[in-house]
Amino acid sequence: MVRAFLIKYAEIGIKGKNRYVFEDALVRRVKERLERCEGEFFVEKEQGRIYVEATGDFDPEETMTALTHVFGIAHICPVVLVEDKSFDNVCKELLDHMKDQLGDRKFTFKVFAKRSDKSYEMESPDICMEAGKYILDHMENAQVDVHKPEVKVYIEIRARAYVYVSSVKGPGGMPVGTAGRSMLLLSGGIDSPVAGWMMAKRGVRIEAVYFHAPPYTSERAKQKVVDLARIISEYTGPIQLHIVNFTDIQLAIYEKCPHDELTIIMRRYMMRIAQTIAEKRHCLSLITGESVGQVASQTMQSLAATDNVCHMPVFRPVIAFDKNDIIEIAEKINTFETSILPFEDCCTIFVAKHPVTKPDIGKMENSEKKIADIIDDMVMKAIDEREIVDVRPE
Ligand code: ATP
Ligand code: MG
Repeated sequence: MVRAFLIKYAEIGIKGKNRYVFEDALVRRVKERLERCEGEFFVEKEQGRIYVEATGDFDPEETMTALTHVFGIAHICPVVLVEDKSFDNVCKELLDHMKDQLGDRKFTFKVFAKRSDKSYEMESPDICMEAGKYILDHMENAQVDVHKPEVKVYIEIRARAYVYVSSVKGPGGMPVGTAGRSMLLLSGGIDSPVAGWMMAKRGVRIEAVYFHAPPYTSERAKQKVVDLARIISEYTGPIQLHIVNFTDIQLAIYEKCPHDELTIIMRRYMMRIAQTIAEKRHCLSLITGESVGQVASQTMQSLAATDNVCHMPVFRPVIAFDKNDIIEIAEKINTFETSILPFEDCCTIFVAKHPVTKPDIGKMENSEKKIADIIDDMVMKAIDEREIVDVRPE
């Protein structure tokens, strides 16, 4: 029976002297994720791998699903731990496990053996040969292929024997928390949750800011953003979500500034506010879900106009993605269904019929002068009175 999981990681293996930082972070992320699973687990780091062992009752499927949500993991192998490691017994356990994992389908295989217990009764080449024979004798559907085996059969002899034959792909990437902290501008759309997920996959710890405009945007629109944050928190870990009331600022812009510039000016204020909150929270960068050419506010000129008010780097991981490619990820990470729920968005309510597509930064700055006497106080108030929601995975 599977009682343990072997975790293989890829990219963090190349970090030279800092490697332990990444390994330790991965162990912590694995432990945190498993806390929400049924059962108790022992997590151990050993020679470029991590072992997870269930110490009592547990749900193998739930555990596997949990591990597929931890960035930094390349592969997960369900392992059978064999206490009585006499060779006959190891073969018996191996056969049960292979029947269980592979069923009746025809397959080719090769045995790989590793022996850290040097006092063991057999040497590695003999273990491979004898175990191979045993499998051939007991499984009609098995065939040896030493060059391109479909199934790699692993036997490791340590204090106990470890047997495994299959592996499930992990999410890849780097453990969250190894690449600094960033503030995600999270809307209720399809793109920004994907953008946040992509940066977290590179090890970035995510916080988020959402701008709403009550009563023009509803409580349900806000709840949708909280829900999206919760869905991505399954991967990113807890997210502090800052909810900023943007109504007064939007109304002021709407009243005083040229309507064709509304969207860009609004976006410039969103970036300024996001950046101020980011500084308070020790974030080093901003993240948005923008993609070149998707809408008027995402032309090269518009992106330059929003960048212009930021001194922090602004990361836009989906910048060169087609909408369909973004949707593909949204479906994979389970945000799509929530993103397409039809609630109003604060940007769409005050939108102009003919927004500028090539905004001129100088002109934009001039237009913003029209609200100069009131806007600073409004921005400060919006930041001070923001609501903070501590979003945690379920
Ligand atoms: P998304 O699907 O992420 O909503 P979008 O295609 O609707 O993106 P825009 O509405 O132009 O595009 O927004 C571009 C980016 O600006 C979003 O990806 C998001 O990062 C940020 N953004 C837009 N509206 C908000 C909001 N109300 N609160 C926080 N961030 C926002
Ligand atoms: Mg949007």
